[in-house]
Amino acid sequence: MTEPTTGWFGDWYLIEKILPGIYGLGEPKYYQVNWNYLVVGEERALLFDTGPGVRDITPVVQSLTDKPVTALLSHLHFDHTGNFHRFADTALADLPVLRACEWDGLFHAPDEMFLGSVDGLTWTPMPIRQWWPIGHCIDLGGAVLEILATPGHSPESISLLDRKRLILFAADFLYLGNLYGQIPGASLPDYLTAAKALAPELGDDVLILGAHGKPLPDGTHIAPRLGRPDLGDLIAGLNAIRDGKMPPVSQNPDHYRLNDRIALLAGPESYGIWR
Ligand SMILES: [Zn+2]
Repeated sequence: MTEPTTGWFGDWYLIEKILPGIYGLGEPKYYQVNWNYLVVGEERALLFDTGPGVRDITPVVQSLTDKPVTALLSHLHFDHTGNFHRFADTALADLPVLRACEWDGLFHAPDEMFLGSVDGLTWTPMPIRQWWPIGHCIDLGGAVLEILATPGHSPESISLLDRKRLILFAADFLYLGNLYGQIPGASLPDYLTAAKALAPELGDDVLILGAHGKPLPDGTHIAPRLGRPDLGDLIAGLNAIRDGKMPPVSQNPDHYRLNDRIALLAGPESYGIWR
């Protein structure tokens, strides 16, 4: 893996060239430090998540590719979906929980899935051009991304796997810092089931790119990178929580330390069938 090279686009977006045709579009000045990802193939490009919408992301995308771009959401939370309405070609995972939000030709995310009321935000209804089933391989021309269901953080959460280049775009399923399992819709049993299903899909050398980052010790930012051991620690931690063998380090929300880079937050509703 080459050294990260980053550059600012204006004063808001930080662009990182992760590999040829794979860019992280970071928003380090946003309080949740979101990272969106642009994958450019020979024929098409895909933007995975569109940020909180504090600033328009489309000029950033246009600066990196002149190929037709499809915007795909990892899930509906407000900090990942803000610019979605700015894209003509929109895609979502073909899940019943998402299909239920479409009527009169427009997609309407309910606030219990968007959670935008936290920041005084409302969803902008827009048409969905493409519904892609779980397991679908998005062929961009020389770059293929497979859609994997990774619920837990939210029921509709998906990740993308580039099997050739061994990269998992994990969105909010796995990132640096506190994983949010304490919010409405989150489920620790689902988290564990999804993590266990994901593990055999990934080789030891997989690069996992998450959707929230943290500053480096010198205050600069790069796309949040995790690896196979972090997924192993997530599984081990969830198993231990289920079995009552991992006490939280603090409560309300219950805060579990999974390793020195990741922790998991949980609330009364998160435990589901475990309690
Ligand atoms: Zn989220």
